[in-house]
Amino acid sequence: MMRKGFQLFIVCVLIGFSSEAQKKVIKNIKKSVSQQGIESHMYFYASDELRGRNTGTIENRIAARYIAERFRAYGVKPVDQQNGFFQEVGLTRTKIPNEAKLTVGDSVFNLWDDMIFTSPATLEIDSVNYVFVEYGTAADFEDKDFEGKIAVGIYALPPEGQRLERDEMVSLLKEKGAVALLELYRPSKFDWPLLINYLSNDSYELNTKEVEESNFPVGWIVDPNLERLKFFRESDSLPISLSIRGSQIDHLTVPNVVGYIEGADPKLKDEYILISAHLDHVGVKNVVPGEDSIFNGARDNGIGITNMLTTAEYFGKNPPKRSLLFLACNAEEVGLLGSEWYAEYPLIPLRKTVYNINTDTGGYNDVTKITVVGLNRTNTTPELIKSGQPFGLTVIDDQVPEENLYDRSDNVSFAKKGVPAISFDPGYTAMDDEIKKYYHQPGDEPQTIDYEYLTKYCKAYIYAVYLLTEMDTFKWTEGDKYQEAGEELYK
Ligand SMILES: [Zn+2]
Repeated sequence: MMRKGFQLFIVCVLIGFSSEAQKKVIKNIKKSVSQQGIESHMYFYASDELRGRNTGTIENRIAARYIAERFRAYGVKPVDQQNGFFQEVGLTRTKIPNEAKLTVGDSVFNLWDDMIFTSPATLEIDSVNYVFVEYGTAADFEDKDFEGKIAVGIYALPPEGQRLERDEMVSLLKEKGAVALLELYRPSKFDWPLLINYLSNDSYELNTKEVEESNFPVGWIVDPNLERLKFFRESDSLPISLSIRGSQIDHLTVPNVVGYIEGADPKLKDEYILISAHLDHVGVKNVVPGEDSIFNGARDNGIGITNMLTTAEYFGKNPPKRSLLFLACNAEEVGLLGSEWYAEYPLIPLRKTVYNINTDTGGYNDVTKITVVGLNRTNTTPELIKSGQPFGLTVIDDQVPEENLYDRSDNVSFAKKGVPAISFDPGYTAMDDEIKKYYHQPGDEPQTIDYEYLTKYCKAYIYAVYLLTEMDTFKWTEGDKYQEAGEELYK
């Protein structure tokens, strides 16, 4: 215990020491970065007019255009001379069925109010029977005739035995000739409208992966007070009809925004520090009729983009030794797809990207801190800790490891390829009400941001980038799960 404490003390003393060159940089950052500039980015970027910058919308492209034109103004250059600042990301979009009707005897069940189908499918089936399969244990499927019929079950854990996995259930039912599976769902944690809202979002994949319409529809029927459970258990002699229509699979592209500032050192300029933040958010959704429906995403990720632009402006005037590669990633909220695309199709060979410092935030609840997700996963811990000090901020590690935040943002797309990566985020110490109030909520608006704090945060980020560009080498911490990928990438 003693020894560890003593070592920590030495580290703190060393970190606290700034060289003359560093003092000059700190002074320059303090003088150069203005709160008004930061507010101006944010009030445009998280405005109602940009309507939540949802992937695939025109407002998402306007957001990308804003970033590109700020890059141009600040002296950031496009990597791709031909296509300029935009790297188009190829996506496949899936819309779930938007028309469906189920009748059982005289009872009618409507789409959205009573049920939902969660994958694209088409079906038209009249006057068949259904088979009630209870909780879906293996025994529930035995000795039953499913040929041409619909299976109806309960989406819950069985009182005894084990429920089959969804995939197992579907392939078993297909094998036995069934045509669809409907499950009675009793909402617990989420209420039904909220769940519908979530499940009815379009889903996306990179267009390099195959997406097919399922020939076996699976749906949920809401059953808040278990009346429907009683009904379906008793009514399997009634004729049942089901029609499902309107699902759609299409292709589109959305822009990543990519640019770079060339390093000042003739040798080191061939190494790039990747500065990333996602540019998209979740758009407009009518969760509660009559209430604010625009998800502005001031925190998520207006902060990341504001910070990226502020950083670009500073280094455009003060190029560091190494080169800086700026990547505003698209389609993050729908599955980290823009960064995955860039990592697959990098505009500069990935092995020249020596480090990734990302920003992504659902919110902050401690304006004395900066939270670095992955603080101790690379050899940059001392530099990152040091970066907050001149601006009165304490850099801390991720306090909610159970949320698995490292794997939930764009940094992971680069980590998987071996690039040492972290996310340098505004200070949070817990997933508390202050975070939940804004995280993916329409209230995440520009006027709710603490700009004095955001300014300090941006300054610390710039200083962190400076300190990183001065480092000798970048490495994963011994034993990290991405260490091997790193050795492979840079060998
Ligand atoms: Zn985000």
